[in-house]
Amino acid sequence: MTDVPERDVLVARLTAVRERIDRAAVAAGRASGDVRLLLATKTMPATVIRAALAADAAMRADDDRLAPVLIGENRVQELVAKGPDLVDLSPATHLIGPLQSNKVNAALRWATCVESVESLDLARRIAARAGERPVDVCVQVNVSGEPTKHGVPAEEAVDLALGVVALDGVRLVGFMTVGAHSTDDLVVRTGYALLRQVRDRVLDSGAPGTAGARELSMGMSRDLEAAVAEGATIVRVGTAVFGSRTA
Ligand SMILES: *Cc1c(COP(=O)(O)O)cnc(C)c1O
Repeated sequence: MTDVPERDVLVARLTAVRERIDRAAVAAGRASGDVRLLLATKTMPATVIRAALAADAAMRADDDRLAPVLIGENRVQELVAKGPDLVDLSPATHLIGPLQSNKVNAALRWATCVESVESLDLARRIAARAGERPVDVCVQVNVSGEPTKHGVPAEEAVDLALGVVALDGVRLVGFMTVGAHSTDDLVVRTGYALLRQVRDRVLDSGAPGTAGARELSMGMSRDLEAAVAEGATIVRVGTAVFGSRTA
C-alpha cells in the first residue's frame, strides 16, 4: 500500500516542478502559463491522487495565475478503477497509454482526452462512441523510432492527423510523444523538435479542423526542460511529484 504523502511534501514537489517549468519557459522566451502540468498517476492509488489534487487546489488558492493540474492515466484498467473515487473532484483526465478498441467505451467514461491515438481505425472507434460533444484526441508520435515505443512514425503522423480531423466525433487538439530514452540532451531535444515540426506542418496545412491542434504533450520528470525548450504545452510528470514507483 502506497503511503499518502503529507500535504507539505506534495506542495513542495509541485512547487519545485513548476519552478523547473518556469525557468525552462523563461529561458526559451515563453510564458510559463503556456505549459500545463499533467500528473502521471500510474500505480498511484486514488487516495494519493486526491492528496495531490488537494495540494494543487491549495496552491491555486494562494496564486490565481496557476492552472489546475491535469491527471494522466496509462492503463484503462486503472482509469476505470480510480474514476469513481475521483468523480467528485472532476479532474481533467487524459489517457496517455495505449487504447485497445474493445476498451474505448470504458475509457471514454472517464477520460476527457485520449492522447494516445496511433491509428485512424482507433480514431474512428472513438468518434463512433462520442456523445453530443466530440472527444478531444492527440495523435501519438514515436519520435525516437525506438521499437518499444507506441505512436506512429513521424513520416506518417501528418497523414494520420489529417485523417483524424476529417472525422466527426473527435476533435484533434494536438500531438503527444514519449521522448527518446537517452541521456544525451541533444538526442532528446531533437525528438521533441520533431513533434513540434509535425504539429506545425499540420497547422500550416490549413486543412479544416487543424487550427485547434496546438498541444504538444511531451517531457517527463527527467527531461521536461528539453521539452519546454522545444515548445511543450503539456508536460507529464510522475516521479518528481509522487516519488519512485518501485520504492
Ligand atoms: C509514467 C509516464 C510519464 C511520467 O514519467 P515520470 O518519469 O514518472 O515523470 C509520462 N508519460 C507517460 C506516457 C508515462 O507512462
